[in-house]
Order: sequence, then C-alpha cells, then structure tokens
Amino acid sequence: MTDRNPSVVVIGAGVAGLAAAKKLKEYGFNDVTVLEASEKVGGRVATATLGNVCVDTGAQYIHGTSEKNPVYCLLKKSGLLNQIPEMGTEAFYSDKGHKVDANVARRAYEAGEGIIRYRGSNTGKSLGEHFAEKTQDVIDSLQDNDMKTRMQSVFALVGKDMLIDVGASNLHRISLDSWQYYIDMGDSVNVPGLMFQLVDMLLEDFPKDRLLLKREVSKIKWDGSFSVSPPRDEPLHAHTESASEEKVRQYPVCIVCENGEEILADHVIVTISLGCLKAQASSLFIPGLPTEKIEVINKLCFGNIAKIFLEYEEAFWENDVGTISLIYEDDTPTSVSTDKMQWLKNIQYFSVLRPKERFGNILIGWCPGNIADLVETMTDDEISTAITDHLKMFLGHSNIPQPKSILCTKWRSNKFIKGTYAYLPVGVDGQVMDILAQPLVGSQHPDQAALHQDSSFMYK
Ligand SMILES: Cc1cc2nc3c(=O)[nH]c(=O)nc-3n(C[C@H](O)[C@H](O)[C@H](O)COP(=O)(O)OP(=O)(O)OC[C@H]3O[C@@H](n4cnc5c(N)ncnc54)[C@H](O)[C@@H]3O)c2cc1C
Repeated sequence: MTDRNPSVVVIGAGVAGLAAAKKLKEYGFNDVTVLEASEKVGGRVATATLGNVCVDTGAQYIHGTSEKNPVYCLLKKSGLLNQIPEMGTEAFYSDKGHKVDANVARRAYEAGEGIIRYRGSNTGKSLGEHFAEKTQDVIDSLQDNDMKTRMQSVFALVGKDMLIDVGASNLHRISLDSWQYYIDMGDSVNVPGLMFQLVDMLLEDFPKDRLLLKREVSKIKWDGSFSVSPPRDEPLHAHTESASEEKVRQYPVCIVCENGEEILADHVIVTISLGCLKAQASSLFIPGLPTEKIEVINKLCFGNIAKIFLEYEEAFWENDVGTISLIYEDDTPTSVSTDKMQWLKNIQYFSVLRPKERFGNILIGWCPGNIADLVETMTDDEISTAITDHLKMFLGHSNIPQPKSILCTKWRSNKFIKGTYAYLPVGVDGQVMDILAQPLVGSQHPDQAALHQDSSFMYK
C-alpha cells in the first residue's frame, strides 16, 4: 500500500460502484471519487414515472430473502420490507380465449420448473436440450392425450418464462451447468417501487462533491506514472506543467473522460456492465487488458429483457390477481424459441403492480432477448395496439381497452448499459467470471498491493 492516503476512483455509479465506494469509506479510505457517465445514479436499478407513480424500470426482485444477501439486509434495515405487497393469485388463459384451471396449470408449472431449475454440474449440455429430454419423459409417462397436450403447453410456458429470467433468446444457448454457480440465498421477493431506495441508502454518507455525474470515461491508463499538483480537497487532476520536485506525486492511473478531463488515482475500480465491456474493453484500457480477461468478456453473453408498463383507467383483471400467463395450446417444450416475425408469442407473462391503492391499474408485460431488442425499436402505439389485440384474444374479452399510457424499457439501446444481465452460454465454465474479477497490478509500481473488490475488478 502507498504511504499516503490512497486515492481510489470508482467508475460507474450503479449499485456495485456505490457499494464499493461505501465499503471503502467504511474501511477508512477518504480519497474516493465516483465517476458516472450518465446524468443520474443507480445504473440498472432505475425508476421512471408513469402517471403519478414511480415504477422500477430495472431490478425489482430481491433474489434471496436471507441474511446472506446484502441487498436484503440493507432493505430490511431500512424497514422497507414491511411494505411488501401480497403476491396475488395467478391467472392462466389459453389462446382459444378461455381461462385455464389455475390449480391444474400451477401443478404442471411446478413440475416444469423443477426440471428447468435442475442444478447440473459439468454436463456440458444446454438448458434447451435438458428441458426437451426431461419434459418428454414426463409426457411419455402420461396416458391421457388431453393431459399430455396440457402439460406440453404449460411446460412451453415455463421455458418461455425462463428466457425472460435469463434475458436470452434461445434455451439451447444457455448452459445447463449455469445454476451451480448461483448461491441459493432463499426465496425471491418482489419489491415494486422500492428498489431505488437501495441506491439512496448506498449514497447516504457519501460526499456529494465526490460523485461526478456526466463523466463518461473514455480511457483508463492503468500502468503509468502520472504527476499532479499538491493535494487538494477535490479529485486529482493531471498536471502537465512541471511542479517543484519535492511536491510532485506520482500516480499509476490516469483516467481520461470524454470531456477531456483527466483524473489521477492510485487505484481504479471498474464496474461498467458486461455489455459496455464487450463494446469498449479493447479501446478503453491502456495498456490493453490481458488476453484472458478479453476472452472472458467475449465468451460471456449479455442478454436483454423489456418491461412494458401498461397503465389502464380501469382494471380488466380481478382484484386479487398478481400475474397473468398466456398459454398457446399447441406449444411444446421443443417449440420454445423467439421468432421476431411472431414476437407477440413471447409476450406471455404479465405481472400486476400491487397494491392497487398505490399503483392504480398497471400491468407489466415482459419479453426476452431479441424480442426485447425488437420491441425497443417499435413505437408506443404499435406495441399498445398489438398487445391489446393479443390480450383480447386470450381473455376472450373484446372490451379490453388500449392502455391510457405505456412505457417500454430500452436497456439494449442505453449507451451506458447495452442490455440487462449476463448469462453463461453452453461450453463456458462459470469459473471464468473469477478471472474477470481478478485485480491487476501495474508493472510501474509492483510494490503496491492491489485492492480487491468482489463484484467488479480493479486496475492499478
Ligand atoms: C430490466 C432489468 C431487471 C432486473 N431485475 C433484477 C431483479 O429483479 N433483481 C436483481 O437482483 N437484479 C435485477 N437486475 C440486474 C441488476 O439490476 C444488476 O445486476 C445491477 O443493478 C448491476 O449493477 P452494477 O452496478 O454492477 O452495474 P450497472 O447498474 O450497469 O452500473 C454501471 C454504471 O456504470 C456507468 N457507466 C457505463 N459506462 C461508463 C463509462 N464509460 N464511464 C463512466 N460510467 C459508465 C453506467 O451508466 C452505470 O450507471 C435487472 C436488470 C435489469 C436491466
């Protein structure tokens, strides 16, 4: 470690960057600066206003309600989790325009989920291959033909919902072995409208003047020797003029922003998304990243989902309903795919924003992968009309109105995110993610130990 108070720059004010900055402060690092490209904090934990309410355009579920999950602990500490709404009931509709018995559908759904969430290890198989094989075994064991058809169509629904969970377009691209790298931290819980408070909590004690917005980083020179004028209470800016010898400090890192600003540091933590790394890693770092890191960035997939918020004057669903699922009776587990020509077939899952007293009448339609990419290019009117016809067909209800307002997320087109979340493709070992998280130590100052940050990676 340096003999002076080390300066650390965190790139990205999403939850990883803000959590890193908060932890550093807790450990006594006082010279921490966060650089954020966009004009707001939070990254993929984001809100927008629809009508009079705030909705989560990014994360809204806590995956793991146990003390092992730091997100859960933070929200619990704040008392926010007391406001969690009841999930509501599940409603299933068929493309023949009638309601499907929810108990039957739920039982079939649970059987399908048990298969698709199998924790394979070193099988080398795709999720699609495994799902088709194992669901076929179940279907073959049934005597009744109607039951076989019903099971197949619900299994297909499970497969399509999984594409949304993963953000992928094809179950055959996802590694079956992925699940072994997930830590089971308990049930998931939906915290609609509350997730952004996580960002506020992370920011609570962080000095506002050390969070610099609209600072898109264009270059990270991480293995140099850069000089700066004597210390000040503000981020260290590069100095080109020669300062008197004894006052000159050397910094191994120089971060160059798009606006020309240069900031020097002892350490840098990079928390930008895998989508951004895929697009920029080869030009962002000077010297370039080691080949093994670049290979991991290339191998991992960065998926996408769209959340389509539909606000209605009146609810056309029953008061207790929490989710609406649309089943195509001819679908089978092997037919699960995304076809842009039939994009509506992949808008089969809607959740209701509850409670009604807080959100009014809002549905969220979800879609995965390349369907989400397509929906991002459509106009609100096109989406709204198509979804209304779609719902009319399934609910057998010609009076379903157009939503009074609509909001569609555009994560793939977001220049500073470029998708939603990462997944592991077939043939890639999940341990490669650790390679990405490994800190780098520069050759100019090899005596200085690198700080380590788990969910991101640090260059020095
Ligand atoms: C639609 C959606 C739904 C999700 N649902 C859930 C969920 O329910 N539960 C859950 O746990 N997770 C969910 N996630 C995932 C979760 O939101 C992310 O894993 C998490 O927010 C990622 O945080 P991060 O800080 O690592 O990255 P990001 O949030 O991507 O933050 C990176 C930051 O870096 C900034 N940046 C990028 N490039 C530069 C640059 N060159 N210079 C400076 N700054 C830059 C970006 O603007 C951004 O603010 C969801 C994500 C999405 C998009």
